[in-house]
Amino acid sequence: MASNYLYKREFVKRQKEKGLCIECSTPVNGSIRCDNCNSRRAEYRKKKYNEWKEKGLCCQCGKETLNNKTYCEKHYLQKISNTRLGTSKFWQALKLLIEKQNYKCALTGDDISFEDDIELDHILPIYRGGTNELSNVQWVTRQANWFKRALTEDELIELCEKIVLTLKK
Ligand SMILES: [Zn+2]
Ligand SMILES: [Zn+2]
Repeated sequence: MASNYLYKREFVKRQKEKGLCIECSTPVNGSIRCDNCNSRRAEYRKKKYNEWKEKGLCCQCGKETLNNKTYCEKHYLQKISNTRLGTSKFWQALKLLIEKQNYKCALTGDDISFEDDIELDHILPIYRGGTNELSNVQWVTRQANWFKRALTEDELIELCEKIVLTLKK
């Protein structure tokens, strides 16, 4: 398996150097596939995407989906990583993060898992100068994230305290 992968990578590298399509060896300009192979591939992906979606499987790979989601765990995490952190490459780190949180919402302490309605919260919101770094995100329930919105943690605490005082009066 590994050697097969290495062989394929080596082959792709050589084809690229020669300026040939990695599928059919037609000369190409700057791309790794010729237009024909590119559109055939896109067509195939679209077909599979719809087929899998119809069957209720992960639309990216055809594996079983998470409860209430259209993705398997890996592709769900890649999507979240991409939309929240600007790159899909942190998907494994996001899995470790929920483990590190002991599968508890970082704001409410509720039990959470990837099967639940959870979101990745920016601890210091982007609008308030927060960054897209792993150290600035945490898994929280959707409800908690919705309530926190663009508040900093201190502002959130202050707001909660005021609400508690007012409602308990
Ligand atoms: Zn080709
Ligand atoms: Zn998948």
